[in-house]
Amino acid sequence: MREQALPQLDELYKEIILDHYRSPQGREPLERVDIHSEGVNPLCGDEIKLSFMLKNNIIDKIFIEAHGCSISLASGSILASILKGKTLSDARLISSSFKEMMHGNLNPNGHKIDLGDLEALGGVKKFPLRIKCALLPWTTMEEAVSGHKHVEVT
Ligand code: ZN
Repeated sequence: MREQALPQLDELYKEIILDHYRSPQGREPLERVDIHSEGVNPLCGDEIKLSFMLKNNIIDKIFIEAHGCSISLASGSILASILKGKTLSDARLISSSFKEMMHGNLNPNGHKIDLGDLEALGGVKKFPLRIKCALLPWTTMEEAVSGHKHVEVT
């Protein structure tokens, strides 16, 4: 794995990101896949495959296969650690709050939910080219979840 060009971030944030990069969450294959989606970020060369196993409408297990830069890999690992045990609608809510934060639209009082380690990725928004790296796992997850919803209504 290459540890390419991690932008200049606060030390604390950098540590959180590198922790996830070095020991990523969600690396155990699932016995059953209920939701699957794949995403690429051609700009950087990041690729991700996401698989979820559900139990009573809760995300029970997450499996991530990813290649790419440290930001995208760390963001995927954070996704796996945060979304475990959440409902699909919680997952969407977290994802949209994260997107708002990355696009700089979230004021401090707008923080209705705890973004946990995702806060560490907030520093990346100073580097517009890397925002897509941070968002890739989340955009991919949203596609997976809407695909699942579609399957439910049909
Ligand atoms: Zn990247």
